[in-house]
Amino acid sequence: MEETPLVKGNQVDHQTRCAHYHSEVDVIAIRFHCCGEYYACYSCHQEQADHEPSQWPKHKWDERAILCGSCSHELTIHEYMKSSQCPVCLHGFNEGCRLHYPLYFEM
Ligand SMILES: [Zn+2]
Ligand SMILES: [Zn+2]
Ligand SMILES: [Zn+2]
Repeated sequence: MEETPLVKGNQVDHQTRCAHYHSEVDVIAIRFHCCGEYYACYSCHQEQADHEPSQWPKHKWDERAILCGSCSHELTIHEYMKSSQCPVCLHGFNEGCRLHYPLYFEM
């Protein structure tokens, strides 16, 4: 089992759900480009970080910045964008997250 990086946020559970997103499929956390810290979601970063978020530029999309809260596997941004589930544990990801890509990634 891989070691789980620390995930910050509001009421983060053991599968990285938070006070804002807590359905069965809300199991991913995102490492922010601005600070390199994992947060459960954008709102968690907004509440707890002391700075404005920045987005991952396209040339850095091969960095591992997405954490599967179910098995602690870290995906690259490219991998994550192609996946509707974790490639390791096959836990489904929230398709609605696609709407929020511009918050995290430079589109
Ligand atoms: Zn940040
Ligand atoms: Zn949150
Ligand atoms: Zn997984």
